[in-house]
Amino acid sequence: KLENIIKEKVKSFRSLGIFPTLCVVKVGDSSEAEAYARSIEKFFLKVGINVDRKNFDKSISLKKFNEEINLIGEDRRFHGILVLRPLSEELEKKKAFQFVPPNKDIEGITYENLGKIVAGEECFYPCTSQAVIELLDFYNIPLEGREVVVVGRSISVGKPLSLLLINRNATVTICHSKTRDLLKYTKNAEILIVAVGKPSIITQDMVGENIVVVDVGTNIVDGKIVGDVDFERVKGKVKAITPVPGGIGVITTRVLALNLLKAVERNEIRV
Ligand code: NAP
Repeated sequence: KLENIIKEKVKSFRSLGIFPTLCVVKVGDSSEAEAYARSIEKFFLKVGINVDRKNFDKSISLKKFNEEINLIGEDRRFHGILVLRPLSEELEKKKAFQFVPPNKDIEGITYENLGKIVAGEECFYPCTSQAVIELLDFYNIPLEGREVVVVGRSISVGKPLSLLLINRNATVTICHSKTRDLLKYTKNAEILIVAVGKPSIITQDMVGENIVVVDVGTNIVDGKIVGDVDFERVKGKVKAITPVPGGIGVITTRVLALNLLKAVERNEIRV
């Protein structure tokens, strides 16, 4: 469904002479970052979105990186910026990804966009968090008044997702590594969302029957990608569960493309 929406939007932009374009920024030579960039690039090119690359040496200074990001931000050819992580140690320490101008922040990582979620305002939502909402909406799983448990409170997934759920009138409980008796919370959830990064942290005894489980985690075990939930044992007990791979990760890429197209609308059409 999302892919069709994306293709239609790209087609109509192109007919207006607008060519949606993403700029991928990479610092250093992380193979993980490169693999992620290639998967994004592959999908974007398939749906007709151009992708450009800017690679910088690991030794780039904070000041120079800021200047470079400003130049990309001012360049009207680029509608959105994707800063690959990890950056160099210094840039990570100084949170240099915050240099991305909020109107091109299609990952929803800047404090301005995160702040707008707190205020309940329209903005670029963090892609993985929004992917969870898209999935639940697609399957007509109501959120209003529902008891949702989110395990994980990172700034990139758990926290913004919890806010998006609250903005949709869900009753949200957030669990983390210091939560005592995790089972007490997971067992009583109507919707359980897990974003931890630990394989099988959620086992069969920790879920109730008739609940919906969304597994955001991605882990490598014996060379295979698995989620945070013991999928094989849990799937027979619950009403619905997302697989890993092939679940939230797939939707996240589509949400990133949708955000890029939202940036095109904002920066080209409404200027
Ligand atoms: P993160 O920054 O490492 O955060 C992990 C969270 O899990 C933290 O809040 C941590 O609690 C909590 N946690 C750790 N151990 C726990 C435990 N034993 N019980 C309860 N909570 C525990 O990770 P992230 O960036 O949010 O990512 C989480 C997972 O999602 C990873 O597997 C990542 O690969 C995956 N992910 C997938 C996508 C996708 O598109 N599918 C996108 C992003 C991330 P504290 O805050 O107390 O430390």
